[in-house]
Amino acid sequence: MGEIANEFSWSRSRDNTFQDCRRRYFLHYYGSWGGWDAGAPADIRRLYILKQLASRQQWAGRVVHDAIEMAFHAFAGGRDLPVEPFIADVVERMRGEWRSSKAGRYRESPKTVALFEHEYAIDLKPEVWQALSRNVAVCLRNFFRLPLLATIRTTSSEHWSIEHWSKVFDFEGTPVWMAPDFGFWTDDGRLALVDWKTGGATPDGAAFQLGCYALYAAEVLGVPPAKVELFEANLREPEVTQLQWSDERLAAIKEQLRLSIRSMKAYLVDPAANVGAIADFEKTEDLRICKWCNFRVVCRPELA
Ligand code: SF4
Repeated sequence: MGEIANEFSWSRSRDNTFQDCRRRYFLHYYGSWGGWDAGAPADIRRLYILKQLASRQQWAGRVVHDAIEMAFHAFAGGRDLPVEPFIADVVERMRGEWRSSKAGRYRESPKTVALFEHEYAIDLKPEVWQALSRNVAVCLRNFFRLPLLATIRTTSSEHWSIEHWSKVFDFEGTPVWMAPDFGFWTDDGRLALVDWKTGGATPDGAAFQLGCYALYAAEVLGVPPAKVELFEANLREPEVTQLQWSDERLAAIKEQLRLSIRSMKAYLVDPAANVGAIADFEKTEDLRICKWCNFRVVCRPELA
């Protein structure tokens, strides 16, 4: 432990965690550092395992994203996919992951699926899990039927970004992790970036997310906002919303990013070395956030 430096970097999820609860932010990005090593001190290891927990909705979202990535690889290789057998495979894999999580395998192998509902022994009826896998199937079925997908498939797959052209870039001295789910060049030479959504709408969050993609286009690919098309594809409905971006809106996103980075660094005792002290990171007053927090068992065990 301690050999890999904990360097400061920014991401949307880091910003979300910071906004939700400063203590959670500390535990996630500092307290659990080094816990990937099975020989780490027990408290750090415990935090690291808790950090990996995903709610069932997050898990379902990841399953859909991974399946779409797989589908694009097949399309790029010139293969077509039989939709229903493909979806059946995805659901079968979900069953395996669910069983692994239920058996607590993640405690020994923290990178395997770890569901919040299992760690916190939330008793859900089988119908709830069935609804989850049905939702995954609906999202994937809708994906295959999207006119946007048909449009994408008319473009050259050589110019698709399936696993991202780049995931991290430098923003005014801070590494920023940010990449669209999918990108392609339209036939008329415009850059299209797509965000696949599998859950309910979060209007503000979505706008910031897409704004971050516009920043990605500008910083990583050197494409100005006027030449970028941003798509938010809500796979549950299904509904595709297209957004236009402008230089002014991009400037506002940059300002939002600067502010977020500054706020996070202001909490550190040594910003240059990226070192923080737990006591400086207050616990949220909003117990509704604690209810679904991965670290509840160590931070507020009285809420069990
Ligand atoms: S249990 Fe509550 S106070 Fe503690 S880290 Fe989680 S959200 Fe923050």
